[in-house]
Amino acid sequence: MPYRAPVSDIAFALKHAAGLKAALAEGLYGDLDEAMVDQVLVEAGRFATDVIAPLNRVGDKSGTPFKDGAVTTPPGWKQAYTAWAAAGWNGVAAPAEFGGQDLPHAVNAACIEMWNSGSMAFGIGPALTMAAIDALAAYGSDDLKQRYLGMLIRGEWMGTMQLTEPQAGSDVGALRTRATRAPDGSYRITGSKIFITYGEHDLTSNIIHFVLARLPDAPPGTKGVSLFLVPKVMLNEDGTLGKRNDVRAHSVEHKLGIHGSPTCTMIYGDQGGAIGYLIGEEHKGMLCMFTMMNRTRLAVGLQGVAIAELATQQALSYARERKQGAGGAIIHYPDVKRMLLTMRALTGAARAICYATAVAIDRSQRGKTEAARKAGHERASLLTPVAKAFSTDIGIEVASLGVQVHGGMGYIEETGAAQHYRDARIASIYEGTNGIQAIDLVTRKVPLAGGNTVRLYLGELRETVKAVQASNAPAFGETATRLGEAIDSLERTTQWLLSQKTSDTTLAGATPYLRMFGHAAGGCMLADQALAALRESGDAPSRTALARFFAENIAVQASGLERSVTEGAESITGAEAALAEQ
Ligand SMILES: Cc1cc2nc3c(=O)[nH]c(=O)nc-3n(C[C@H](O)[C@H](O)[C@H](O)COP(=O)(O)OP(=O)(O)OC[C@H]3O[C@@H](n4cnc5c(N)ncnc54)[C@H](O)[C@@H]3O)c2cc1C
Repeated sequence: MPYRAPVSDIAFALKHAAGLKAALAEGLYGDLDEAMVDQVLVEAGRFATDVIAPLNRVGDKSGTPFKDGAVTTPPGWKQAYTAWAAAGWNGVAAPAEFGGQDLPHAVNAACIEMWNSGSMAFGIGPALTMAAIDALAAYGSDDLKQRYLGMLIRGEWMGTMQLTEPQAGSDVGALRTRATRAPDGSYRITGSKIFITYGEHDLTSNIIHFVLARLPDAPPGTKGVSLFLVPKVMLNEDGTLGKRNDVRAHSVEHKLGIHGSPTCTMIYGDQGGAIGYLIGEEHKGMLCMFTMMNRTRLAVGLQGVAIAELATQQALSYARERKQGAGGAIIHYPDVKRMLLTMRALTGAARAICYATAVAIDRSQRGKTEAARKAGHERASLLTPVAKAFSTDIGIEVASLGVQVHGGMGYIEETGAAQHYRDARIASIYEGTNGIQAIDLVTRKVPLAGGNTVRLYLGELRETVKAVQASNAPAFGETATRLGEAIDSLERTTQWLLSQKTSDTTLAGATPYLRMFGHAAGGCMLADQALAALRESGDAPSRTALARFFAENIAVQASGLERSVTEGAESITGAEAALAEQ
C-alpha cells in the first residue's frame, strides 16, 4: 500500500501534544495562525505522497552507482528534488533575510517527517542541508553567508556534515583531518572522511561540505577541532561556479538500507589541500557543530517516526486484507491487534516527543524574554536525546512488527515491509549512536540547572495525569494510574541519578533510563491528545483507546526499567566474567 501523509493526525499532534496551539495563541510566531499551518501541512503531505513516496522502491532497487568519481542518484530523483526545492520546501524554517520562509521549526519538523515517510533515503539529504544552514546562519561570517546561504536555502546547492573518520566515530575528538592557515585568510584541508551522506551526487551543481578538521597547533580532543566550509566547486568573484576544489569522493558504501542515499568516502588534498573557510572561531568547531548535530538529531528522530508511520500504514492495510483461519481478516486476532496497537501507539508517542522538541527550539529562538528563551533552550536540550534515540529505537521495533504482521510475506522484498526494516536500522546509529544519546541524557541533560529542568518537566507530565483523572472519562480505564506510576518511577530514578556521581553503573543504566523517559513523556502526550479531542468533540474513542493502550501496556514497563537502572546496572559493571572468551 502506498504511503498517504496522515496530515490531520500530524496537525493534531503538533497543536495538542507538542504545544503549537498554545504557542500560536501566545503570539510566539507573530501573525501565523492555525489555518496557515494547516495549509502548509496539506501541501507538504501532497508532495510527500504524490512525488516522493513513489521514488522509495526505485531508490532501494537502483542504489547510487559510482563511476569515475561521480555518483548517479536513482531514476526520477533529480526531477523530484528539483521540484521539491523549487517549491521552497528546503527553506521552510530558514531565515527570511536569505530567502527562507521563517516558519516554525515545529512546522518544518512535521514536513521532515513526511519527506522521510515518502523516502528516508531522499529525506536525509535535505535534513543535512537544513542543519548546515542553521550552523552557517548562526556562526558564519557575513561574507560566507552572502555567498552561500541563499543558494543553500533555495536548495540549489546541498550541504554535508563531515565528522567521521575510521578512528573517530563516537569519539569525534580523535579526528585527524588537518587544516593549515593560508596567507589569504582561508585554510587548506587535507585528509579523509568516511560514511559521508550525500558526499557526492548529481542532484545539485555544487555541494557545500561542512568539515571538522584540526589545526597544527590545536589542543588534543574535541577542544582542538575547527569547522570549515569547503565547497566542491569554488565560486568566482561574481558568485558563479568556477573550478573544482581539491576534494573528491573515493567510493560509495554498499549497505543494509537507505540505498538511494549515497554514503561516501571523501578525500581532501590530492593536489595540496582543499580550500576551506573557517566557520566560527579556530578550535571552537564543536560549538558550531553542535548546532548542526542538534538539528540533525531531531531530524533523525523524525526519520524514526517517519518509518514507523510508513510501516504502520502498510501493516494495517495488510491486516485488513489478509484472511487466515476461522477469524477472517487477521486484524481481528488479539495478537495481531496487539502488534498493530503497539505500532500505532509508539509512533504517536515518538511523533509527539519530536514535535515538542521542535516547539522548544522555537521557544529558544523566539521567546519574548531572555528567561523564556533560556527555558526553551533547556527544554530542547533535555528532549533532543530522547527525541533522537527513543524515536529511532521504536522506528526499528515498529518496522520489525510490520514484518511480523505480514508473516512470511514480510520477509519477502516485494511487500516493502522488509525495506522499511532495513532502512530503519541506520537511524539508531548515525548522528550519535543511541547509546551516546542516552549517556548525553544522563550525564549532561538531567543535571541541567541542578536538575530543575527535568523536575519542571516531570511536574508538567503530572498535570496531564491530573487532567485525565479530572476528565472522569470511563474510556480512559487505568490510564491516569498507570501514567502516574510511570512518572513515579521516572522521578525516583531521576533523583537517584542526580544523587550519584557519573560512574560505570550510571552509564550502564543510561539506555533503560532514556526508554523510561520516552514512555512517560510519550504516554502523557497521547493522553494530552485524547483530552483535547474530548474537549473538542465530547467523544474521542480512537485517541482515548490509544492513550489507554499505551498507559496500560507500554508505560507499565517503567517499574522494570527503574530496577534496571538503579539495581540491574550494577550487575552489568560486575559481569565481565560472562563476556570472557570461552
Ligand atoms: C549510512 C551511514 C551514513 C552516515 N552519515 C554520516 C555523515 O553524513 N557524516 C558523518 O560525519 N558521519 C556519518 N556516519 C557515521 C556515523 O555517524 C557513525 O557511524 C556513528 O557516529 C558511530 O561511529 P562508529 O561507526 O565509529 O562506531 P563506534 O564509535 O565504534 O561505536 C561502536 C559501538 O560502541 C558504542 N560506543 C562507542 N563509544 C562509546 C562510549 N564512549 N560509551 C558507550 N558506548 C560507546 C557505540 O554506541 C556503538 O554501539 C554515517 C554512517 C552510516 C553507516
